[in-house]
Amino acid sequence: MKPRDRLRIAMQKSGRLTEPALELLKRCGLTFRQSRDKLFCFGEGEPVDLLLVRDDDIPGLIAQGVCELGIVGRNVLDEFRVTAGRDSEPLAELRPLGFGRCRLSIAVPQEFDYREPAQLSGQRIATSYPGLLGAWLGEHGVEAGVVTLAGSVEIAPKLGTADAICDLVQSGGTLVANQLREVDVLLDSEAVLAGPQALPADERGDLVELLLKRLDGVIQVRE
Ligand code: ATP
Ligand code: ZN
Repeated sequence: MKPRDRLRIAMQKSGRLTEPALELLKRCGLTFRQSRDKLFCFGEGEPVDLLLVRDDDIPGLIAQGVCELGIVGRNVLDEFRVTAGRDSEPLAELRPLGFGRCRLSIAVPQEFDYREPAQLSGQRIATSYPGLLGAWLGEHGVEAGVVTLAGSVEIAPKLGTADAICDLVQSGGTLVANQLREVDVLLDSEAVLAGPQALPADERGDLVELLLKRLDGVIQVRE
């Protein structure tokens, strides 16, 4: 890949993390030109540009070196880390950002008398996080069927395609609406700043250091 001098940060184009991520970058002194419905936003002050993409693509873009940093849910970052091949560039969680909080949890139908993970043996569990679920099941020595779905995981038990789900929960409202009950938490998540394990050894690396310093200031003020 051609060397670049400008730093690139990937963030969600449109979704729960978009507004708080832009707000945070603004508080770090970064401003961008061009409307938000485009893929690319040009940084006006510092040589830092934005890539607006689907959140699921962010870890891969960092691993490929298309961008240096990304603002993404820990759930998405960790799923990538669990499933990425050994040849993939290792990624790091550089900072927790304090917004987009949610949990990756197991939920079961109301009538399922859940007490421990072992009860999931032989059951079918629907999820969009097969890597994290598989790792958790493995830790508990549970062999279950993992049904991978891209979305609408919460309706799988009602459709009869799964006995339980492993999905993101925030308020729990979606679970209640689908007669499901949260019974175990796999991961506490929030938006994080993700980057490569080894930062570029050039001006971009220096820029990352500068941004991290500003970020720490902003986060401290907010706490
Ligand atoms: P995209 O089009 O970018 O793929 P998406 O539908 O996957 O969007 P959102 O629903 O906007 O993404 O969620 C983005 C992130 O927000 C999640 O990965 C998660 O970290 C966080 N989040 C917080 N609360 C919730 C929730 N209740 N449900 C889903 N995600 C949540
Ligand atoms: Zn997504």
